[in-house]
Amino acid sequence: MKLVFLGPPGAGKGTIAAKAKDVYSIPHISTGDLFRDNIKRETELGKKVKAILAAGDLVPDEVTIAMVKDRLASDDASNGFILDGFPRTIAQADALETISSLDKVVNFVLDKEDIIRRLSGRRVCKSTGRTYHILYNPPKVEGIDDETGEPLIQRDDDKEEAIRNRLEVYEASTAPLISYYREKGLLVDIDASASPDEVLKSMVDALR
Ligand code: AMP
Repeated sequence: MKLVFLGPPGAGKGTIAAKAKDVYSIPHISTGDLFRDNIKRETELGKKVKAILAAGDLVPDEVTIAMVKDRLASDDASNGFILDGFPRTIAQADALETISSLDKVVNFVLDKEDIIRRLSGRRVCKSTGRTYHILYNPPKVEGIDDETGEPLIQRDDDKEEAIRNRLEVYEASTAPLISYYREKGLLVDIDASASPDEVLKSMVDALR
């Protein structure tokens, strides 16, 4: 199964992908996670993109496309994949067409108020990337990762100013991909307002 997960930041793409990868036995490829991993390891790529991520802007297409092309060439992606957060521009979608075919594009639909509520309450464990929400998915002990015991942090780009920018960037650059993929007959709309397990179930049913 070759899937793209589309939708605004905060729609739960990463949360659903982390579950769906086991359902379909395919890797979850998140461009945001790949960038954050490079930033953490202080690679050349990480240094180049650090300020861009903190501001909630988009990394240039050439850089992002090259990284995804490289990742999709790995053995584990040969039978399928979930691309989470890629493509985010029409140029990236055009490039993806030259790299791989797709089975479906899942569009996670969520209104703006819910998006802001979800993003502003999100907390992450820096070393594992595991995510929580202070209201909807709290850790067992406030502020602490359930498994590693490390303190949870708020991503720089989940702070108010960056959230506003990310939503503008989404509307301007990424939302046009909805009609791009609808016209190709690939789009499946999923209501992302329910709990992660319910959203996963409606997606699996819709893809059957
Ligand atoms: P995410 O974890 O998907 O919200 O991505 C976090 C950040 O990584 C975004 O706000 C961008 O700065 C960058 N990023 C992730 N995916 C892409 C992409 N496909 N194109 C450009 N920038 C991206």
